[in-house]
Amino acid sequence: MAFLPVASALMSDLPAPASPADSSPDHDLFDKIVNLSKRRGIAFQSADIYGGFRSTYDYGPVGVLLLRNVKDAWWRSMVQMRHDVVGLDAAILGPPQVWEASGHLANFTDPLVDCTNCQARHRLDKLDDPNVCPTCGKTGTFTEPRDFNLMFKTQAGPVAGAGADCYLRPETAQGMFVNFMNVVNSSRKKPPFGIAQIGKSFRNEITPGNFVFRTREFEQMEMEFFVPPAEADEWYRYWCQERFQWYLDHGMPENLLRLRPHAADELSHYSSGTSDVEFLFPWGWDELEGIANRGNYDLTQHQSHSGQSLEYYDQAANERYLPHVIEPAAGATRTAFAFLIAAYNEVEVKGETRTVLRLHHRIAPYKVAVLPLSKKPELTGPCLEMLRAIQPHFMCDYDETQSIGKRYARQDEIGTPYCVTFDFDSVEDRAVTVRERDTMEQERIPIEGLVRYLQEKMQ
Ligand code: ATP
Repeated sequence: MAFLPVASALMSDLPAPASPADSSPDHDLFDKIVNLSKRRGIAFQSADIYGGFRSTYDYGPVGVLLLRNVKDAWWRSMVQMRHDVVGLDAAILGPPQVWEASGHLANFTDPLVDCTNCQARHRLDKLDDPNVCPTCGKTGTFTEPRDFNLMFKTQAGPVAGAGADCYLRPETAQGMFVNFMNVVNSSRKKPPFGIAQIGKSFRNEITPGNFVFRTREFEQMEMEFFVPPAEADEWYRYWCQERFQWYLDHGMPENLLRLRPHAADELSHYSSGTSDVEFLFPWGWDELEGIANRGNYDLTQHQSHSGQSLEYYDQAANERYLPHVIEPAAGATRTAFAFLIAAYNEVEVKGETRTVLRLHHRIAPYKVAVLPLSKKPELTGPCLEMLRAIQPHFMCDYDETQSIGKRYARQDEIGTPYCVTFDFDSVEDRAVTVRERDTMEQERIPIEGLVRYLQEKMQ
């Protein structure tokens, strides 16, 4: 995708994108993150012991926390901290009617080409040069592109046949459109308001890859914001700004982020504006999230296919209308991966290279590691008691193996912001040493005030 400067008047008050020249891709970094992920329990190839299954991943003890924190941070900003957005958790299986109305059955396709020389399959729109096979390097060996539908089809119930066909959702968004009236009638919300959802989506991607960047099963965080038609442009600008800021607020450096408005020929026919939040991945700029001004396309489609009115009745103005929709659609698994990349640092400590994940405390898998200086029961006993007092407030790790230096290093590697060491003096003075990940500074804190101290640090 070519980088486009933010030029139009519509976009003039959006954050200025960083120039690609500001930061260059780092190919080594990719391997380091993949190795770290496996070594420290972030993500494993699914069905690993059988050789792995077709670009699906399982999140390990550390990864499940990271992913959950990304989703919680999104939910907190998009639902908890707002009065105008409500949540939803819709079904993953859906009938063909939904996907016919949404246009997915006819149009949710990618152009597939086969190389007649090496038999590799590629997605034509993602190739640097549409005539050169990136696998074997040969020119002019591609077949004519074929439209390949990305939806997974299955059947509901024991009897196969047309009536039993159903699909795994390829996005969470349709759940919000088909439930629009249910939410309006049950929540007393009126436009402008949003419905947010986090959940799994499935796409039979032609070329999954780049670790968890593009997988066939992944998680999305999407919100449909329903607005009076005249307010759509204003809300589109608002959500572009808001979503870009969310990544900055959670510790992503500005030089690794940019907002890229789509060119007119990239826009879907119903969209009057789409911008991608892009991140500088080790292979270059790529999408984290799309924010689209979708007009009333989706509600119009579902209204005409279902035969049910989806018009909102505005009592004050005594008029009915189909709201327009602004959709910020992000990938949870892809964003978690981007947080890992952005946080990855290597530091020299006493001649040794150490990995430190400088994750924002809201994203960090564990907030606190509790470490007894020795495995002796006179320390581990009171130390576990202290752990139990902290656990209701923070996700904690507990580690009593190997030297304290090695344990600090292990926590740095998974991005734990605070290590609390319980030593022999702690038994007497009821105080512990708190070490901060980024400064490596240590402070002696009374156990009694420990939770408050950590809460103040991680507000
Ligand atoms: P792409 O161009 O990368 O295929 P898209 O534009 O089709 O993505 P959307 O349909 O807008 O993506 O989905 C919203 C978000 O969901 C994307 O920005 C991305 O973060 C995430 N996403 C989409 N497809 C995948 C996938 N196969 N694996 C992981 N995340 C995905």
